[in-house]
Amino acid sequence: MLKDKTLDFIARMPKVELHLHLEGTIQPTTAIELMRRNCAKNAPRTVEELLKIYDFQDLSHFVRAMKIVSNHITRLEDLDRVCSEMLEECARQNTRYLEFDCALQKYIDLGMPLSDVVAVLDRAVQAAEVRYGILARMVVNLQRSHGDEKTANLVKEIARLNHPLIVGVGLSGDETQYPQKEFINTFAIAREAGLRRTVHAGEALGSQSVWDALELLHAQRIDHGTRAIEDERLVRHLVDAQIPLTQCLTSNLRLNVVSAVKRHPFALFFHSGVLVTLNTDDPQIFQTSLTGEYELAYRAFGFSEQELQRIAHNGIKASFLPEEARGHMLQRMEPIALADCEKN
Ligand SMILES: [Zn+2]
Repeated sequence: MLKDKTLDFIARMPKVELHLHLEGTIQPTTAIELMRRNCAKNAPRTVEELLKIYDFQDLSHFVRAMKIVSNHITRLEDLDRVCSEMLEECARQNTRYLEFDCALQKYIDLGMPLSDVVAVLDRAVQAAEVRYGILARMVVNLQRSHGDEKTANLVKEIARLNHPLIVGVGLSGDETQYPQKEFINTFAIAREAGLRRTVHAGEALGSQSVWDALELLHAQRIDHGTRAIEDERLVRHLVDAQIPLTQCLTSNLRLNVVSAVKRHPFALFFHSGVLVTLNTDDPQIFQTSLTGEYELAYRAFGFSEQELQRIAHNGIKASFLPEEARGHMLQRMEPIALADCEKN
């Protein structure tokens, strides 16, 4: 059978990732080593055993699976390893720019000083920039289950730290239990401090949660936003205001937001003029990769190579980089020669 040349194009194409949780990127061997070092109960001995933990059926099982593994990041050196390996994997996917989300509060609660955590991550990011030419910035994760007071305090601390690695904050967690309106205070502080804002919305809940993220929290980007498709007026608003959606096909499929990839509204959004981007969310847990997500979109929706490239470029337009840096990054998004790609 002839090899589809578009698949080669997708592999080589420079990409951008804006919806990637550091804790969902732990490489299998690293996960096993950390769990065994920490004497975790029933720690897996093989990758096959680890994958059984990730074989979840629903959202609550998924949250449990994520914690079972990521709770074993307990030292600064673990963070360095996980972050460095995440960046190495992004380079393999030909990702040129990424904004990764990190659950900083988790590490502060373990007794690690905020400035040390950010310094370790920054060192890994700078090393990857030199080694792979990949540029990365961080979006600080705000966990809904922590409540407004704790998330507001974290925002105040990161505003005080004022570190160039941190470009914004992102709210995630169960939107059915903790609605957007509970975080108005936190997001007002972030806005005041000049931090960019993204919110997970329209995943478990319908379009109202996206409206609330925009109107109550002044979100500048929506993570997922899949169910915005249920509201024509909202889709028009997303187009008019050019509010980006960071979409994750496999994640939505695995967590039953859609029943099949072909039923995902990604292509509808794209053809309506919504600024959509493709992302992996938690690639190790969902067993996917950024190249894999582009292949999935290509096979399900028949995008042309030009359209796939436009989706990648949308990632730069949707990024939290300053205007000037965006222009510079767009220039670095030209496809690279196959020979260069094979060196990676
Ligand atoms: Zn997410």
